[in-house]
Amino acid sequence: MNALWSPGISELKPYIPGEQPKVEGLLKLNSNEHPYGPSPKAQAAMVAAVGDSLRLYPDASATALRQAVAKQYGIQADQVFIGNGSDEVLAHAFYAFFRRPGPLLLPDISYSFYPVYCGLYGITVKRISLDEHFLINPSHYMGEASFGATGIIFPNPNAPTGQALSRAQIKTIVQANPHCVVIVDEAYVDFGAETAAPLINEFPNLLVVHTLSKSRAFAGMRVGYAMGQSGLIDALVRVKDSFNSYPLDHLAQVGAVAAIEDQAYFDWATQQVVQAREQLTQHLKTLGFEVLPSKTNFVFARHHTIKGAELTENLRAHRILIRNFNLPRISEFVRITVGTFDECKRLINSIALILEVDSPQKNLN
Ligand code: PMP
Repeated sequence: MNALWSPGISELKPYIPGEQPKVEGLLKLNSNEHPYGPSPKAQAAMVAAVGDSLRLYPDASATALRQAVAKQYGIQADQVFIGNGSDEVLAHAFYAFFRRPGPLLLPDISYSFYPVYCGLYGITVKRISLDEHFLINPSHYMGEASFGATGIIFPNPNAPTGQALSRAQIKTIVQANPHCVVIVDEAYVDFGAETAAPLINEFPNLLVVHTLSKSRAFAGMRVGYAMGQSGLIDALVRVKDSFNSYPLDHLAQVGAVAAIEDQAYFDWATQQVVQAREQLTQHLKTLGFEVLPSKTNFVFARHHTIKGAELTENLRAHRILIRNFNLPRISEFVRITVGTFDECKRLINSIALILEVDSPQKNLN
């Protein structure tokens, strides 16, 4: 332990983000980034915003961006909180709502940043097992199971499994737990799941968290937001303004507004990814993979002859990065981000070479 550190720093177990190597010809399918760029209108808006106004501090409460989000979901601007990526929004939410006596309930297989925040803030965790099909069972988050819980959080669709609950199922969980905040992390919702946002006016304990990193292709700009009743948003603003009043720079705010308003580009880009995902799923199945039904921009799959870690390493030799998690129940799986149609084709051809079988692409293109 470093004598200059505050207590507890050496015990922290930080999150390990997907690697970002700079290698020529590398196909990066390991961080669920969008294969197409952000809206051209968002890019133009940011270029136009570069100028003298950067001399000034940005709008601390991101008013225009909150209004753009509110319009999109038919809610009020004071029901929206903006943060530097949804990771920051989540960090503030954990601080604001979960540092109370009792455990935080979360799925045993889920976004691995959640336990990291718990470690940072001293929050106790109770992990709830996914069922044998790797699905969240809502009944495991109510009644006796959630008695005395300090909060509930899960991604919907879940990550890295990619599977989603319906809004009606989420409603049952939120309704059964009026004593605590339920956070639904909808990082991947735009790729085919139902958002719980329409429920926020009904339930004061529901917080829905979104990011522009995935479906808006804005990971490099770091923009995330939460939607909930103003009582919850007030708490988040208090935490933010006690930590960093200007988490989003001016260019990120301007670009995010334009990205949200460019519905036509969003629809097109989302469709590309969804169609490529379905084709990729079929090709992986032809190659002998079991593929969980995905509502995201990634697929979670396992093969009966090759382990997840081995496939990941072999693909690295083909300059393709995917992700494998050395964790109980899922170490056989690989998580593959959906790329462009051409990128998916390259991936499938490489996997066929590794498995020493014919590529299903051959007969198709
Ligand atoms: N939630 C989930 C489930 C994620 O997979 C990610 C991306 N790693 C995030 C939140 C955070 O996204 P960002 O900070 O880029 O908004």
